[in-house]
Amino acid sequence: MAKRIIVTDEDPLLRKVSREVGVPNDRTRALLDDMIDTLKFAEGVGLAAPQVGILRRIFIINIGIEKGKDEFVEFIDPVILETSGEQDGAEGCLSVPGRQGNVKRPNKVTVEATDRNGNRFTYTGTELMARCLCHEYDHLDGILYVDKAYEMADDEE
Ligand code: ZN
Repeated sequence: MAKRIIVTDEDPLLRKVSREVGVPNDRTRALLDDMIDTLKFAEGVGLAAPQVGILRRIFIINIGIEKGKDEFVEFIDPVILETSGEQDGAEGCLSVPGRQGNVKRPNKVTVEATDRNGNRFTYTGTELMARCLCHEYDHLDGILYVDKAYEMADDEE
């Protein structure tokens, strides 16, 4: 396992559409392990493969973050099945360091994806997790949250 470099907003890679993975192999699993290391180090909520320079439809989310523990869910070839409700709040991105912006997102999101063993599963997230699912999914289509934010600001810290 190894930490990878997170590409930032000037990198044109972040604007490309990622390709489907299909059946995960050992390289996919090695990438997922590296993405977990990278996300842990960066102390972020989610990370998409294009953020580490790999144009594949993969992202991970630390669903334990609100409970102060690490619990990673890996999404390969995700499809958004259903969204409902609305939330409005501040959002940031490891690829847009030092900034945040307000973005409207659905409050509940259900995603179907493949796990590292090749099995399809569904995951439903609400509030922060719903926001994160939409944010990471957008990365796979070359979309950054700054495209959707109606108000941007520098980080207060
Ligand atoms: Zn991001």
